[in-house]
Formats: sequence, structure tokens, C-alpha cells
Amino acid sequence: MSRARVAVVTGASSGIGEATARKLAASGFDVIIGARRLNRLQQIAREIGGRALFLDVTDRKSVELFAADIPAVDLLVNNAGGALGADTIEEADEARWEWMFQANVMGVLRVTKALLPQLEASGDGLIINVGSIAGFETYPGGGGYTAAKHGLRALTQTLRQELLGRPIRISELCPGLAETEFSIVRFDGDSDRARKVYDGMTPLTADDLAEAIRWIASLPSHVNIDQMVVRPRDQATALQVHRTPPS
Ligand code: NAP
Repeated sequence: MSRARVAVVTGASSGIGEATARKLAASGFDVIIGARRLNRLQQIAREIGGRALFLDVTDRKSVELFAADIPAVDLLVNNAGGALGADTIEEADEARWEWMFQANVMGVLRVTKALLPQLEASGDGLIINVGSIAGFETYPGGGGYTAAKHGLRALTQTLRQELLGRPIRISELCPGLAETEFSIVRFDGDSDRARKVYDGMTPLTADDLAEAIRWIASLPSHVNIDQMVVRPRDQATALQVHRTPPS
């Protein structure tokens, strides 16, 4: 009897990861979710019938424990990550840069390395890395985040070359502005400042991006979506955003 496909989603306690976990569970996947806020994760897992495991992608030991509890994986969504601050390079805070590299690049490296054996053993593995338009654009004040997402893009493309001929696909989803907890985290919990990011425009929702991930994972195994860029209609580049002034 064939088993349900298993999806692992990192950073699933909020935003895009949570929406993805919900959508994949509704599409028939057995879902395993990881993040640091275990209470939230456990609540989501109860609602979707999945498993919640503590995961801090910046900590090698935590990733090892996480992977050791996952015997089989067909789909890995490397979504955990984010930005801290909007400092110029002149004013850069090294600790924030360090965290952005740890969460967005080293974390993906660790989780991917740890779960590659299971993905290969599945005979039809798929890795979807949640990058960003910051992976190929730059903007003032975005140096740490854009450098990290550029790094993730290089990691994704290198891995695709290294895995050629083995039964694992690798995709990069690059969202533009999406309203999640992303900007609240970026601005240290300042929700007024976070809200201004989306003033007068209609951002993507976490669900829009979860739908893109569900679609990528629904394609037959000979089809690999190399990179998918999804922006709101109101956004042309990181800085070119159409905003309607309040009437
Ligand atoms: P979010 O709501 O802040 O979600 C971020 C998730 O990552 C949370 O579940 C958080 O969980 C988890 N996370 C953060 N650090 C972690 C760590 N060290 N270990 C494990 N999990 C960690 O923001 P989001 O927008 O959904 O972000 C998801 C991904 O989309 C990120 O990679 C982000 O860079 C990317 N992205 C977002 C946007 C946007 O506009 N929102 C645009 C482009 C790309 P815990 O805090 O519980 O650990």
C-alpha cells in the first residue's frame, strides 16, 4: 500500500509557512512542521492533523534532532527566515547581519543536508526554497537581507547542478511584498512601522504563496519549476510600489 507523501515545512508557526502547512495538509500530504514557537506549532498541527517539532535553523544541534525524528520526506519547504532592520551598510549592525545569514542561508544548508538522504530515498524528492525578490534585487537599507537571499539563490542553483541525475528537484519561490509577521519581526515588534510597509497598496497574502507552493508540488516529477517570482500587482520592483493616497 502506498503511503501519503510527507511534507516538511520550516518556519511554519506563522505567515507563509503556516499557510503552506495548512494547504499541503488539505491536499493530502502528511505534514511535519518546525519552528521555535512550539505552542503555536502544536496548535496548528492539531488543526491540520500534522506533527509539530521544535526547530531553530540557526542551531546545528536543533537541526540534527529535528531531522533524526523524520524517517521519510518527499517535499521539503525551506521557508524559515526573515529580515532584521533596514540599516544602511554604513550603519550596519553585525549581529543582525549574522542572524540574517544564519536564518536564511546557513539554516537552509543545515536542514537540506540533514534531510537529503530521506529526500533521495523517496525516489521523487522536491525541495522548495522560499527566497525573495531580494535574491536578485537590491535596495538601500536592505543590504543584509538582500545579501542573504542572494546567497540562498546561489545555494539553490548550485544544489540543482550538484543533484543533476538524482531523483530530487529543487525550486526557488521568490515573493514580493506579502503581509505576514515579516515586517513586525524586521522592525522589532513596531507594528505601526510594519503596517506602513503596506500603506495604500494590496500586498500578497501568505495564502497566495502557499497556493504557488502547492502548485509546484503538484506537478509531475519530470517537471522542475526552477524559479517562480510572485509579486503583488501593485509592485514592480522592491522600491517601485503603486500606492493610493488615503481619500
Ligand atoms: P513570518 O510570518 O515572520 O514567518 C517567519 C517564520 O520563520 C516563522 O514561522 C518563524 O517562526 C520562522 N523562523 C524564524 N527564525 C527561525 C529559526 N531560527 N528557526 C526556525 N524557524 C524560524 O514571515 P513570512 O513572510 O511568512 O516569511 C517566510 C519566508 O518568506 C522567509 O524566508 C522570508 O524571508 C520570505 N519572504 C517574505 C516576504 C514578505 O514580504 N513577507 C517576501 C519575500 C520573502 P518562529 O519565530 O516560531 O521560529
